[in-house]
Amino acid sequence: MNLSKKAIQTNPSPTLSIDAKFKEMIASGIDVIGFGAGEPDFDTPEHIKDAAIAAIKAGQTKYTPASGTNELKKAICEKLQKDNCLSYNISDIVVSNGAKHSLANAFSAILNPGDEVIIPAPFWVSYPELVKLADGVPVALHTDESTNFKFSPQQLAAAITPKTKALIVNSPSNPTGMVYSKAELAEIAKIVVDNDLFAVSDEIYEKLIYEGEHYSIASFGEDIKAKTIVVNGVSKSYAMTGWRIGYTASNPQIAKVMANIQSHLASNPSSISQAAAVAALSGSQNSVSSMRDEFALRRDYIVKAINAIPGASCLTPQGAFYVMMNIKSFLGGQIKGKVINNSDEFCAHALEVAKVALVPGSGFEAEGYVRWSYATDLGKIKEGIKRITNFLS
Ligand code: PMP
Ligand code: GLU
Repeated sequence: MNLSKKAIQTNPSPTLSIDAKFKEMIASGIDVIGFGAGEPDFDTPEHIKDAAIAAIKAGQTKYTPASGTNELKKAICEKLQKDNCLSYNISDIVVSNGAKHSLANAFSAILNPGDEVIIPAPFWVSYPELVKLADGVPVALHTDESTNFKFSPQQLAAAITPKTKALIVNSPSNPTGMVYSKAELAEIAKIVVDNDLFAVSDEIYEKLIYEGEHYSIASFGEDIKAKTIVVNGVSKSYAMTGWRIGYTASNPQIAKVMANIQSHLASNPSSISQAAAVAALSGSQNSVSSMRDEFALRRDYIVKAINAIPGASCLTPQGAFYVMMNIKSFLGGQIKGKVINNSDEFCAHALEVAKVALVPGSGFEAEGYVRWSYATDLGKIKEGIKRITNFLS
């Protein structure tokens, strides 16, 4: 069939595929433990659900402005001021169907065919695909454990070419959990401004930091703010993955272009989810800190447990809810009767034999690693670690 060349080159999301497979296995009664998709296991807090129910009852069931309600945009502006010291107006905000959609809007708004986007690797699986869908060229900026998976300003400067249009900043990072410090971000911001690039700053894990503090790169002065598209959402901080609310804050010219695109592609995100997101951002933040405290306990447990598995190791992530397990010592050898050459084979075999779902590093441009998401309860984490320890013994 003669389909779009661009479309058929789009790979499926490995995180979502593994999650779907895991959920299918559970539905068919298989005792599998999932560390695949990064989806908080907590329920959405009650006051947020109540706001959604109230919105339905009040008849907020019609189209809203395509780029979101003024009420939600106002709550987002207040959040950005309070948490990030960033002043934005309602006209700078675009509300979308999840942060993934916000990122798609951002790349569509800034990229022309052939424009390069620097993506620090290991990176979240969707970045390169979203860049390619917007006719851009993803350029991986490789990092490794020796620098805590962080790139240096020198490395960034060396990766810039006349075609570079933008840099993706993702701190805390999916999949490494690394957090850039204030000083590091200030240096990155300077390079972005000096080279007249855009920064697409994905801050979806900002509330999940266990050491250090979150800074938005947009907060390092008016020059960098004008060139940054801040991307955030409610999926991770408020356990609202299914509600599909993400947003951008940017200069109003970029916001207008993104809003125009969205007005044709998707119209508004669900009116009910928008009402819920107002309650999430403006209401009590107690659930955010209690979820973070629970994630911190799980992180401490899983990091210690992985490092106790002979041949495996991991760094201690400072944020998000992922940990990258180094499996290099197992590659080329046999695990439970099968020669394992790469992270894809490792994960397929672990799922089949140990009944544990992990995400291969290959999709994150991190061969030699597998990602655990510890957004699952401690009992399951303990059992998963036991199974993987047996699998590797
Ligand atoms: N950015 C990163 C780094 C993510 O891990 C995810 C995963 N969900 C998203 C964006 C997209 O989030 P949402 O569910 O709001 O689309
Ligand atoms: N972002 C999460 C993950 O990396 C959820 C799945 C997805 O959207 O990729 O697992």
